[in-house]
Amino acid sequence: MVIITRTAYNCIIANAIQHVPNEICGLLAGFIDGTTKIVRNVYFLKNVDHSPAHFTMDVAEQFDALKDMRQQHLVMLGNFHSHPATPPRPSEEDKRMAYDSVASYIIVSLASAEPVMKSFHIERGITTEEKLIIRKEKSDD
Ligand SMILES: [Zn+2]
Repeated sequence: MVIITRTAYNCIIANAIQHVPNEICGLLAGFIDGTTKIVRNVYFLKNVDHSPAHFTMDVAEQFDALKDMRQQHLVMLGNFHSHPATPPRPSEEDKRMAYDSVASYIIVSLASAEPVMKSFHIERGITTEEKLIIRKEKSDD
């Protein structure tokens, strides 16, 4: 299960819409509590492919994001990218490029009228959807 705040969710959707027709991508960091991943930070990284169908994260920005996570004592939880015109499920390329079976792969699809965000676990080409919960901010509790 992955828990993300409403603010982080809205930021990712807004960024995805802003970059249409190209895909956006980035990293997610936070805490792991048992089998639950709690997203605290979202890192938007440059898609060096500038493509509607592919993404490659800028290497220097990845390095900076990982450094920031370490400084904030956060764990890398996974990554996200957008599908501007295709459904919210990993493409064949996404599966091929999914080397980290511990990571969550979040996909935002803008193919329908309403944006859809889903999270996946990908291991040896097998995709399993994970429960994704969008939670209000702590201050709203
Ligand atoms: Zn994809």
